[in-house]
Order: sequence, then structure tokens, then C-alpha cells
Amino acid sequence: MTDIYNFRRGTTPLLISIPHDGRALMPGQSDLMTDTGLAIPDTDWHVRQLYAFAADIGASIISANYSRYVVDLNRPADDTSLYPGKLSTCLCPLRAFAGEDLYEDAGTVTDEERDRRARTYWRPYHDTIESTLTELKDEFCHALLWDAHSIRGVVPALFDGDLPDLNFGTNDGSSCAASLSDAVAGLAAGTTWTTVVNGRFKGGYITRHYGDPADSVHAIQLELAQRTYMDEASTEYDEQRARPLQDTLRHLLQAFIGAARA
Ligand SMILES: [Zn+2]
Repeated sequence: MTDIYNFRRGTTPLLISIPHDGRALMPGQSDLMTDTGLAIPDTDWHVRQLYAFAADIGASIISANYSRYVVDLNRPADDTSLYPGKLSTCLCPLRAFAGEDLYEDAGTVTDEERDRRARTYWRPYHDTIESTLTELKDEFCHALLWDAHSIRGVVPALFDGDLPDLNFGTNDGSSCAASLSDAVAGLAAGTTWTTVVNGRFKGGYITRHYGDPADSVHAIQLELAQRTYMDEASTEYDEQRARPLQDTLRHLLQAFIGAARA
């Protein structure tokens, strides 16, 4: 038992990772944060709720309980940049996407503090992804990882204009066999959602680190524009918007599983 994440084991080769819908702060952290930090605006709101249906199609699901403002699980523990030359967010963010300070004193997060957070909150999540993928591969001869995210449709610091609805990332094709990503992206292209593959979001650390098609581990990141299932201004979940998206997600996950079996 751990309070770091929730995990349920499924019955198919698919593991869904939800690293950014955690809302908890560490003991003592809230005393050090600004009002912006306390509001955790960069949360991947409600992604857990959105993907809850996936338990019924046999997916294993791991989701973080702590906020990305504690430690960003989709960044490498040594904090090297994922998008060299572009503004990128770090392992222990000091600023929100919109630029506001998260801490009253940015010096609060020392190198030692960053390493401590990585050991305490980052490592256990990744150990479970790693051991689960190994078990799935032993059982099914392949393992599938779907890293599930969402973000506001307009974030000027990170990308220009309006983000497409569905943003798939396979690290330019290296985290997933083309036959699998083509099956998923092809199906998405036939829906009413706007889609892009390896656009602004090519997959973060989780997709890049674990995706290894030569070793039969295939990883896809899906970054959703939040307007597809919630109200971005109030951050409230919208059942009516979410339902058709969940239908699409179910078909995409089933296509991912089906293409791997073939
Ligand atoms: Zn995210």
C-alpha cells in the first residue's frame, strides 16, 4: 500500500499511466506556495475520471496522487530538457505554465530537495510502471503503454494558437511500432475530433523511456485538449462533452490492443 499512486491490474497487455491528475501537495509544501501554486492550475484535470471506463476493457491503470508541483513524473529524474531550445517545464516546477511563481521563495527547492522528492515520489511510480510492463510482457509477449494527459487548449508559453483535440506522441515513431500507431491514429482521423501525431507534443519522459518496439513494448502518449471533456474556465468536468470522447477513447484503446495482437 502506498499513498503515492493508485494502481489496479487488468487482464490485457495494456497499462494506462495518468501522471498529472494528482492534486495532493507534500506535508509542509502549501505553507511555501503562492496562491497560484495552491490552485494547481496545470493539473491534467479529471483524466482519471475520464479513463475510469478503461478498467472494464481490461486495462491496468496507474494514476498519481501527488501534484506535478511536487515532482513531475513525466520528466527524467536528472531533469534534462525534453524539448531542447524550447521553453520546457521541469522536474520540480517553480512557475506555472502561464508564468506565475509557484513559491513565495524560489530558493525553497534546492538540488537536495529535488533529489529527495525524486526518491520519495518519482521512483515508486516508475518502479511500478517498470515491473508491470515486465509482467505484461511475460504474460502476453508484448506490453502496451498509454500515457494519458490533458492541457488547456491555449497555452501561449508552450505552443501557438489552439491545440488540436487529440495530440498523439510516439517520439517521432521511436516509441511504438508503426503498425500500432497507424491503427490508432488512423481510427482517430476518421472521427470528428481534430488530431495530430508528433506535433507539439511528441511524448514526454514516460513514453520515450519505456517505449521500445524492438523489445515488444509500445508506448503512445495522448495529450487531450481539455475543452473536449470539461469547462476550461471553471475546471469542471462536463459529462455531456466527455461521453462521446470516452467512446472514441475506448475505440482507440481497443485498436491499440487489437493491432498488437495481430
Ligand atoms: Zn500531463
